[in-house]
Amino acid sequence: MTDAETMDAELRTRLPIGTIVDISLELDPKNFAMRTPAGFTKDLQFAMEVLKEHDAPGGAGQIVRGVHMRLHAGSHVDAPEHNVRGGTQIHQLPLALFIGDAIVADLRHKMPGKAITAADLDQAIGARLRPGDRVLLRTDHNNAYDGGSDAWMKASPYLTIGATEWLIAREVVIVGYDFYHGNDEPGAPRVFHNSRTLSEHGIITMPYLKNLDRIAKERVTLIALPLNIIGAEASPVRAVVLM
Ligand SMILES: [Zn+2]
Repeated sequence: MTDAETMDAELRTRLPIGTIVDISLELDPKNFAMRTPAGFTKDLQFAMEVLKEHDAPGGAGQIVRGVHMRLHAGSHVDAPEHNVRGGTQIHQLPLALFIGDAIVADLRHKMPGKAITAADLDQAIGARLRPGDRVLLRTDHNNAYDGGSDAWMKASPYLTIGATEWLIAREVVIVGYDFYHGNDEPGAPRVFHNSRTLSEHGIITMPYLKNLDRIAKERVTLIALPLNIIGAEASPVRAVVLM
């Protein structure tokens, strides 16, 4: 084991939990990319630059890097303002939203590109979903995330309007996705209709997850804290599940 792994193993024995499952995408400047739909004035991806080097003059040597990224790069949470003008921003959301019960809806049979209906959700999680839960929609699609290609997008399933309404009626507080969350059913009334509707009901969307196949328990604790950025519509998160 490396020093880091030894330390990790030692620290875990002090936590009141069994396993930590990392369900976040890597933000690797060498290969991370995401889709740039219409309307962007700048295609900001995820880039890192060195601002200061170890050989800095006067004995002040340190490595300091900066990143340029969308707040929507990689695993992140969208506050209602993302889709609703004047809506709630990240810093206004209670932290308790981002720590708590989550369940996985196994929707692998909806790959590639099929509709996820209310009946599908009911069959997957209807019996065990409680009001206030976070729901993680699992397809395993992002386990081979390719930077948001057209093929990746087209292979992603979509929530029907009925499925979105089902999540709202069942009082889900966060909807997590391991596939492209921007797909809608054919003929949907608006672009991004489902995520807009969730935002309009105060429900947080948490796209670009992965590793949902590693969640082996029916009910787990999700921790995915946003940064305390003031006045923003989204924040990157390190999303983990405790089992
Ligand atoms: Zn987003």
